[in-house]
Amino acid sequence: MKYQSTRDNQKNKIESAEAIKQGLANDGGLFVPDEIPSLSTDDIKALCPLSYPERAANVLSRYLTDYTYEELLADCKAAYSEKSFVGGAAPVKNIHDNIYSLELWHGPTAAFKDMALQIMPRLLSRALVKTGEERTALILVATSGDTGKAALEGYKDIDRVKIMVFYPTGGVSRVQKLQMATQEGSNVNVCAIRGNFDDAQSNVKKIFADSDMAKALDENGYFFSSANSINWGRLVPQIVYYISAYCDLVNDGKIRLGDEINFCVPTGNFGNIFAAYLAKLMGLPIARLICASNMNNVLTDFLENGTYDRNRAFHLTMSPSMDILISSNLERLLYFCAGADETASYMKSLAESGKYTVSADVKTKIDELFSGYYADENETAKTIKETFEKYGYLCDTHTAVGVSAAERYCSDNNDTRVTVVDSTASPYKFAADVYTALGKDAPADQLDALDALSAYTDTEIAYPLRGLGERKVVFDKVIDADEMPAEVLKFAK
Ligand SMILES: *Cc1c(COP(=O)(O)O)cnc(C)c1O
Repeated sequence: MKYQSTRDNQKNKIESAEAIKQGLANDGGLFVPDEIPSLSTDDIKALCPLSYPERAANVLSRYLTDYTYEELLADCKAAYSEKSFVGGAAPVKNIHDNIYSLELWHGPTAAFKDMALQIMPRLLSRALVKTGEERTALILVATSGDTGKAALEGYKDIDRVKIMVFYPTGGVSRVQKLQMATQEGSNVNVCAIRGNFDDAQSNVKKIFADSDMAKALDENGYFFSSANSINWGRLVPQIVYYISAYCDLVNDGKIRLGDEINFCVPTGNFGNIFAAYLAKLMGLPIARLICASNMNNVLTDFLENGTYDRNRAFHLTMSPSMDILISSNLERLLYFCAGADETASYMKSLAESGKYTVSADVKTKIDELFSGYYADENETAKTIKETFEKYGYLCDTHTAVGVSAAERYCSDNNDTRVTVVDSTASPYKFAADVYTALGKDAPADQLDALDALSAYTDTEIAYPLRGLGERKVVFDKVIDADEMPAEVLKFAK
């Protein structure tokens, strides 16, 4: 199987290892596979008795054909071990009636980014060998909190890569700060920047674009790479859990092999739901994909009227990982519905005017599978409270947006099929907001909010967030933004 850019009508093709190493295509497009591997009913049946790492290796081997099955199996076993994913990699739980939760947050940072970031660095490390790259990849990340920690956990102690994370002193929460400052691993570095997230991000971008920096790095045997969420290596592992969830539902007798089900995905950058779309194209019996948004409902409007328009107010919500106005991975869906030429023209229009309208043909294709719903802040809080009080299921703020969308979709359409909501974060990741939504007054200190939520709901604090206050602080350096290049060079020695 080969890969090409979403904007390339010449169809220049590369191997998956090259796509993972490059991240973004030279023309600004995203890498997509040039064919979709099929998944028959017999294939699904054969996956049912397997463990999560085995299912993952099987699915990945259909896309990453320049990796051997043995390589993939070894990486999947290491990535999704019981030590990293306490309670299973992606368990399915019933919330009520036909509504289920696919819990994607049992990994080392208690949020769903772990599902991709635990394996992507291993795929990158192998890609460097496969493409004959002798230098070490230096990953630079500017983070407003969660992605930085998930990347650190994913890249720590991986061969041929080093990772450096910058976070702003203004903006990250105490829990997030503690998580990063106590990071372990021999190839990691964390640095606080005086300023806000934009200061950190714009300086990382500047460093990436600086040819003198690249030259200095090259002389030391390094090159820059990014942990960006549009990398194919972060997307492909996400296809696995849709198929795995289906197998678990069959195993538990909730559905019969061949029955169609729905997935509802709390969406930001459209990566997670696009992975579900690929599972559907492969042959997984999916009836509807429900795209759930918060008040930043640019996707709900797009699915409603075919116009993507980012020219609108930006809202800070209690589901911050979905506070996004440009959903980059939507470009991949456009490519599959419209081809490279049309995708390139939509993206040009987005860059120039912040909006585009898809053709009637593309709109029809998208309508056949996708529904869009959004939940405002009140609705989200109400869903957390009701889901806990009525059904005893505690969900985080992002998952609540999904549960609300799934319930409204099913009731609007009298759809009684099994509907699985992606649960994208542990409630403890957003403990203060969850506790407040339950009608309680959250303690001022975030660490106290974890304990209060645990006591009130009689549930356990997610393991990565336990005992944070007692862990050893390894990184306490605070610098000005203009000192970042020097810090990077010091690390790349
Ligand atoms: C990243 C993230 C999302 C959004 O996923 P996309 O793939 O960007 O659509 C949803 N919830 C949580 C908790 C996340 O971290």
